[in-house]
Amino acid sequence: MLTQNLGYPRIGGQRELKKVCENYWAGKTGYKNVLAVGKNIRHENWQIQKDAGIDLIPSNDFSYYDHVLDHSLMFGAIPKRYNEVMLKQDNEEIDLYFAMARGYQKNGFDVVAMEMTKWFDTNYHYIVPEFYKNQQFRLFSQKIVHEFYEAKQLGIVSKPVLIGPVSYLLLGKEKEAGFEKIDLIKNLLPVYADILTKLQDLGAEWIQFDEPFLSLDLTEKEQQVYRNTYKQLRKEFPRLNFLLATYFERLGDNAQLATSLPVDALHIDLVRAPQQLDEVLELLPAKTILSLGVVDGRNVWKNDFEQSLAAIQKAKDKLGADRVWIAPSCSLIHSPCDLKSESNNDVLTPEIKQWLAFAKQKVSEIALLKSLSGNAPGVNAQYKLAGNIHDNTSRKTSILIHNSSIKQRVVNIKESDAQRKSSFPSRKQQQQALLNLPLFATTTIGSFPQTAEVRSWRSQLKKGAINQAQYDLHIAAETEKAVKWQEEIGLDVLVHGEFERNDMVEYFGGQLAGFTFTQNGWVQSYGSRCVKPPIIYGDVSRPEAMTVKWSAYAQSLTNKWMKGMLTGPVTILQWSFVRNDQPRSETCMQIALAIRDEVCDLEKAGIKIIQIDEPAIREGLPLRKADWATYLDWAVKAFRISAGGVQDDTQIHTHMCYSEFNDIIQSIADMDADVITIETSRSQMELLDVFADFKYPNEIGPGVYDIHSPRVPNKDEMTHLLKKARAVIPDSQLWVNPDCGLKTRGWDETKKALTEMVAAAKEMRATV
Ligand code: GLN
Ligand code: ZN
Repeated sequence: MLTQNLGYPRIGGQRELKKVCENYWAGKTGYKNVLAVGKNIRHENWQIQKDAGIDLIPSNDFSYYDHVLDHSLMFGAIPKRYNEVMLKQDNEEIDLYFAMARGYQKNGFDVVAMEMTKWFDTNYHYIVPEFYKNQQFRLFSQKIVHEFYEAKQLGIVSKPVLIGPVSYLLLGKEKEAGFEKIDLIKNLLPVYADILTKLQDLGAEWIQFDEPFLSLDLTEKEQQVYRNTYKQLRKEFPRLNFLLATYFERLGDNAQLATSLPVDALHIDLVRAPQQLDEVLELLPAKTILSLGVVDGRNVWKNDFEQSLAAIQKAKDKLGADRVWIAPSCSLIHSPCDLKSESNNDVLTPEIKQWLAFAKQKVSEIALLKSLSGNAPGVNAQYKLAGNIHDNTSRKTSILIHNSSIKQRVVNIKESDAQRKSSFPSRKQQQQALLNLPLFATTTIGSFPQTAEVRSWRSQLKKGAINQAQYDLHIAAETEKAVKWQEEIGLDVLVHGEFERNDMVEYFGGQLAGFTFTQNGWVQSYGSRCVKPPIIYGDVSRPEAMTVKWSAYAQSLTNKWMKGMLTGPVTILQWSFVRNDQPRSETCMQIALAIRDEVCDLEKAGIKIIQIDEPAIREGLPLRKADWATYLDWAVKAFRISAGGVQDDTQIHTHMCYSEFNDIIQSIADMDADVITIETSRSQMELLDVFADFKYPNEIGPGVYDIHSPRVPNKDEMTHLLKKARAVIPDSQLWVNPDCGLKTRGWDETKKALTEMVAAAKEMRATV
C-alpha cells in the first residue's frame, strides 16, 4: 500500500509567493527573487511531504500564478496579442506568463489579460485557455521538466502532475466560430508525448493526469475522445505508469468509462462521494490500483480515522493491499497551509483547534492511515488513532456545536415562513403607496470607498491604538458624510456605505454564533489573491442584532429611504468552510433564520427597504445537472425564509454579480425579491435578455456602469444602456444603479460617476 498526494498549497506558509509577486509587479524586486522564493516553497513542500511519509510526492503542482495557465504556456497556447511582450528583449518567460495572467501595460504596450473563471465548484479561479481555429501547440515552457529534475536533485522521484489532455481542452474557450475545441486533441497530443518522453528519460515512474471532467456530465463525443486519447498515450508509453485522478464529484455514469481507460491507477474522491467506492471496486480491471481520496482536501476538519480505515479495509479485502493507495480527496491547494500557525487562542480556541487539520496535518493523516491499516500498527500509531477518536468524539458531543433550540427551530420551519404575506403585484402597490419612488429610481449596491483611512481605523482598533468608542465615532462621521453627499446628488434610495465592514461574509460571521476565524488560514483564490474563509463549526444563531445600529443611525440622518444591507444565507455558506457533520442545506437554513431575524429587526427599526445580497447563489450550483434541482430548491428556500418575515410594504432587494443567469432564471424568479440588481454593463445589457425572455415579473436594476475600473462613465453612455434596457423590460420595472458595490473605488471617480448616473435617470424619466 502506498500513500500519495495530489497537490500541495503553493502560496507559502506566510504567503511568501503573494508578497514577492506583488513586489515584482510593483517593480520593487527582480525576477530572480521571484524564482528563488518559488524554489524555496517547492523545496519546503517536498520536504514536508517526505518527512510525513508520503510515498508519491507531486511535482509541477507548484505555480507562480495558476496551474492551468502553466499548461497553456507549456503547450505554447499563447494568444497572438502577447507576441510583442515576448519579443521585447529584456523580458523573461515569467513576464510573458504574468502578462497573460494580468495584462501588460508598460513600455508603450497595452495588452489585456486572459479571462479568468472559477475552477469547478471551488473558490479558486483559473486562467481560461484561449483556443482558435487550427490552433497549433508546441512545447514552450519546460517548467514541468525542470521541477521534476529539481525534486530529483533532492532525492525525490516525484510524480509530475499534468492536467489531462481532455480536461485541458474542456477548460478552455473557443475564441472564434467554426471549430470545436475538443477536436484540437490531435494537435495537442504530440506535445504531451514530447513532455512524457522528457520526463521518462529523466527517470519519472508515475505521471498524474488530472481529469476532473470525468466527474461531470460528458457528451458521447467527449467520452469517445477520452477512450482514444488514453489508448494512444498508453500505446506510445507502455512503460510509464499513469495515474488518472478524478475529484470533486462521483464518477456516476462515467464510472464505466473511467475504469475502462488503460491506466495503472485510478483516483476517486471518497469525501464528496463515498458511496461510489462499491461500484468502482466492482468495475475496476484486474490489475488497476485504486487511490482512495479519503482525506478532505476542500475542508479543514480532522479526518475521521475509523471511517477512513473502514473504506481502506473494504478496498484491501477486494483488491489486496498492493492495489490500494491512500490520498487526499483532491489537491490540497484548497486547504490552508499549517494549523501550527494558529497560535492565538483568542482567535481560535484550543477546543476548536483540536478538531482541525490543514494541509500539513492532512499529509500526516494520510501517512498515519497507512500505518494503521498495515498488519501490525506500532504503539505510536495506535496512540494517535486513540487521539483521533478522542478529538472527533469531543467534536461530536461538544456543547459548542449543538444547540437544540436552533435545531428545533429549523425543524419547525413552516411553508408559510418562506412566503411573503401577499403576492408581488399586491406588494408592489403597497410599496409604491408607502415609498413613493419615481420611475427609474436610483440607488447603489451598498458599499462606498473603503479608503486607506477607513481601513486604518479598523487596524488601529485591532491593535488597541483606538478604542471601540473612538472607532465608532470615525465610522459615524464617515457614514454621515456619505449620507449627506447622496442626498446632495439626488439619489432616491440611500445606503449607509458599509464602512464598518471588512468583508461581506466576515462581518456577519464575526457576529453569528457557530462561526470562528483563523489568523493565517489563507487559501489561494486567484494569482496572488488569497482569502481567509470563516469556519462554521456549530449551530448558527444570532445572539444580537448585527446591522441595526448603523442602518438606523444612517436613516436618522435623512428623510430619504435608507436601504438596509445584509449578506444572504447561501453566500455566507458558500464563502465559508462549512461543517461536515450535517448537510449544507441544514446549515444554510440556520443561517437563513438568523438573517430573517435581522431583517425583521431592521424593519422594526424603521428600515423599509432591505437588500439581501446573494452573489454566490450561481456558483453553488452542483457540478452534475442531475443535482441542480435539489440544490436550487433549498437555496431559494433559504433566501425566501430570510426575507419572508416582513410586511408587504417592506421592499426586499437582492443583488447578484457574476453573469450566466441562463440556467437559473426560474430560481431567481422563485426567490421573489421585490427588486433584483445585477451586473450587466460589461455585457452591454445583453444579460438582461434572459430576464426579458423569461418575462421576469418583479423589478430589476441592471447595472449601468462597470465598477471594476476607475473609468468614469458619462450620462449618455448610461442613457444608452437604459434605453437598451427599456426596449426589453417595461419602465415600471426598472431601477438605475451601478453593477456592484463601490468599495474598491476612490471617492473622486465615485462622485463623478454617480452624479452622471442620476442625470441619466432624470433624462429617462423626462422621456416617459
Ligand atoms: N453590498 C455589497 C457591496 O456593495 C455587495 C458586494 C457583492 O455583491 N459582491 O459591497
Ligand atoms: Zn455585486
